[in-house]
Amino acid sequence: RAKALGKAQYHVFDPDMHQQAIRVLQLENDLRRAIQREEFIVYYQPIISLTNGRIAGFEALVRWRHPTRGMVSPAEFIPLAEETGLIADIDTWVLQSACHQLLIWQKTCPAKEILTISVNLSRRLFSHPNLLERIDKILHKTQLNPESLKFEITESAIMENSEEANKILAEIRRRQIQLSIDDFGTGYSSLSYLHTFPLNTLKIDQSFVKLMDKNTNNMGLVPMIICMAHTMKLSAIAEGVETPAQLAQLRSLGCDFGQGYLFSQPLDSKLVLELIAADPQW
Ligand code: C2E
Ligand code: MG
Ligand code: MG
Ligand code: MG
Repeated sequence: RAKALGKAQYHVFDPDMHQQAIRVLQLENDLRRAIQREEFIVYYQPIISLTNGRIAGFEALVRWRHPTRGMVSPAEFIPLAEETGLIADIDTWVLQSACHQLLIWQKTCPAKEILTISVNLSRRLFSHPNLLERIDKILHKTQLNPESLKFEITESAIMENSEEANKILAEIRRRQIQLSIDDFGTGYSSLSYLHTFPLNTLKIDQSFVKLMDKNTNNMGLVPMIICMAHTMKLSAIAEGVETPAQLAQLRSLGCDFGQGYLFSQPLDSKLVLELIAADPQW
């Protein structure tokens, strides 16, 4: 490790670096135990139909309630979880929890069949030898209609080994589960491969949505991405919608769905139940 750092190897003896290394080790240890100790919790962020303004579904977003550090955001522990491979088990746990939770909500409101749940599928779990087995087990156990489940996968996870990826994606679609590309536009998608994948949705990365508002005449890449999605017969979701101006622009561009603080922050499951129970249309 020190060798890999080359000229910077003296940093290993830097007391700050040492502290940092210990912190990371500690965090990794904690992370290993977090699943058994039931320290993770899933939050749910509404995804809104821009054609009728109603909640179409939710994205499941994991949080870590660390016993001493308090709430740790995914930005802090997901990279470590990916590096150590622990992410595959975390994702499986999130999938199980989210499917179970959606079933409860669907049973609570009459128009139950329309709600979907989107779950992030890390590259590690996507290429895990037991992926399909795990999915089948959870679907069987929860008895959730697979059509109301949607996986979010990044471009890099499927572009890496596109032939193998295509087989796995086909197996997922064969089970009627839907597929979204997450953070679309930030990875290295090859257009010639992209249209061969059996996808349902492109999620426009929030960085593109953010840029739209700065200059009302310049909507950047967003119109092109929406157009691309529709050309491939996919729906488009805009991430990180924060302002009414962005919403108006997205609507005028024919974007199908929106997700962001303008509508709602990610919520705990109890608040979601209140939200859908209070909706007069349900
Ligand atoms: P993502 O999948 O692209 O999720 C969207 C992120 O944007 C979430 O951050 C969400 O809280 C945040 N967000 C939503 N609306 C807005 C907005 O209007 N403005 C801004 N600035 N942010 C908004 P979060 O929950 O911190 O998650 C960050 C990333 O961590 C996720 O990005 C995803 O890549 C990863 N992640 C979260 N949960 C899981 C999980 O269960 N498994 C895996 N593999 N990754 C996860
Ligand atoms: Mg996502
Ligand atoms: Mg995203
Ligand atoms: Mg993102």
